[in-house]
Amino acid sequence: MAQSVKGTRDLFGNELDWFQRIEDTARRAFQRHGYWEIRTPILEEIEVFKRSVGESSDIVHKEMYDFLDKGNRHVAMRPENTAGVVRAMIQHKLLASSDPQLLYYIGPMFRYERMQAGRYRQFWQIGAESFQVASPESEAESLLLLYDFLRELGLVQLRFSINSVGTPECRPAFHAAFRAFFQAREAQFCEDCHRRIQENPLRVLDCKSPQCQAALEGHPVLVEFLDPASRAHHERLKELLTALDLPFEENPRLVRGLDYYTRTAFEVLSTDLGAQSALLGGGRYDGLVKQLGGPDVAAFGWSIGLDRLAMLMQALHGTAPRKPAPVLIPLGGPATLKALALAREWWQAGLDLILETRGGSLKKALTTANRTGAPLALILGDGELEQGVVAVKDLAAGTQETWPLAEVPARLSAR
Ligand code: AMP
Repeated sequence: MAQSVKGTRDLFGNELDWFQRIEDTARRAFQRHGYWEIRTPILEEIEVFKRSVGESSDIVHKEMYDFLDKGNRHVAMRPENTAGVVRAMIQHKLLASSDPQLLYYIGPMFRYERMQAGRYRQFWQIGAESFQVASPESEAESLLLLYDFLRELGLVQLRFSINSVGTPECRPAFHAAFRAFFQAREAQFCEDCHRRIQENPLRVLDCKSPQCQAALEGHPVLVEFLDPASRAHHERLKELLTALDLPFEENPRLVRGLDYYTRTAFEVLSTDLGAQSALLGGGRYDGLVKQLGGPDVAAFGWSIGLDRLAMLMQALHGTAPRKPAPVLIPLGGPATLKALALAREWWQAGLDLILETRGGSLKKALTTANRTGAPLALILGDGELEQGVVAVKDLAAGTQETWPLAEVPARLSAR
C-alpha cells in the first residue's frame, strides 16, 4: 500500500487540533496588531531563492526541492516564505507608497533535510514581515507580538537572544579582523569553516562543531565594528526590551542561517521542555527588497516552526481539549425526514450537532455516539414526533429526559 512520501506526514486528530489552536491564537494576535495575511504560491522561480536566501546557504545549496516543469521553467518549492512575500510585494507594487506594510503568513515549506526527530521535509511556518519601518521601536512591536503570542500558548520560560550583524558597509572591517583571528588558529577549525571563511566569514560563528565553537573563544565581536547608526539602533532596541520586560541576552555568535540579515538578528530560546532550545528566529533584512529588484526599503521579520510548536504544546498540555457535538438519532422514515429539517434549522442557528444518517438500530447509533465521546444523544422516534418532543440521553450520566422540540436550541446552547 502507498505510504506518505518520506519526510512528509498527514495531519489529523490531536496533532491537528494543536495546529489549529496555534494558528487561531496567531491570527488573533496578528489582527490585534493590524497585520494582514498574505498567501503566496508554493512554487516560485528558483532565482527568487538564489537571489535572496543565498546560493551559499545550506537551504539553497543542499535542501531545495527544485525541478524543471513541463514548460522547462526552473522552479522550486518554497523552503521559506520571506523571499516569496518580497517577490509579491514588488510584483504588486505594494511598496509604492511609504506607508508601513505589516503582513503575516501561515503555510507549508519544503526542505530536503536529513531526517531527524522533529525535522520534516514538508513543515509549517507562521511568520511576520514588516516593511517600510526601520526603527528599533518597530522591532520591539514585532517582538512584543511574538512574545505575547507565545505566552498566550502557555509558554513561560522564554528569552530573546539578540545580536547585530551590522550592515554590508561595516562588515569588511569586521571580516578583516575576524580572518586574522581565524588564521592565527586555523588548524583548530573544521574543513567546512575553511570554506566558510572564504565565502562568508559570519557563517564560521554558527558552526555546529564543538571544536570550532571552542576555537572561537575570544573572537572579535561584530557589535564593536558597527557604524554609529547601527550601534545606536542596537542600543535603543536593548533599552526598549528592558523597558518592556522582555527578557533577553546578547549573543555575539548569533548570525542566523540566511544571508540577507542586516543589523538585528534574534532567536527566542525556551526551557519549557527542559534543555534550552531555539524556538524560532528572525531579524532585519533591509537590503533584500532591493536585491530582488524592488525599492530600497526597510524590512524586519521572523518565522516560527508550527510542527515544533505543536509538539511542545502536546508535551506541555497533553491532548488539546476536544468538544464532540451531540448526536441526533432519528428512528424510522417520517422521523428521519423531520430530523433532517430540524437539524438544518439548528445548524443554521449556529448549533453543533451530528446527524445519524445510517438508519440502523438505536443500539448501534448509541454505541457509536458513546465511542466518539458525544455528550448527548437526541432520540427522535414516531412517539416523540407526535408529541413535538425529543428524548435526550445524557451519555456520561446515563440519565434521560424529554425536551420540547422548540426548546432544543436554547437548551443546547446553554450547556
Ligand atoms: P529557519 O527558516 O531555518 O530560520 O527556521 C524557522 C523555523 O522553522 C524554526 O522555528 C524551525 O523550528 C522551523 N523549521 C525549519 N526547518 C524545519 C524542518 N525541516 N522541519 C520542521 N521545522 C522546521
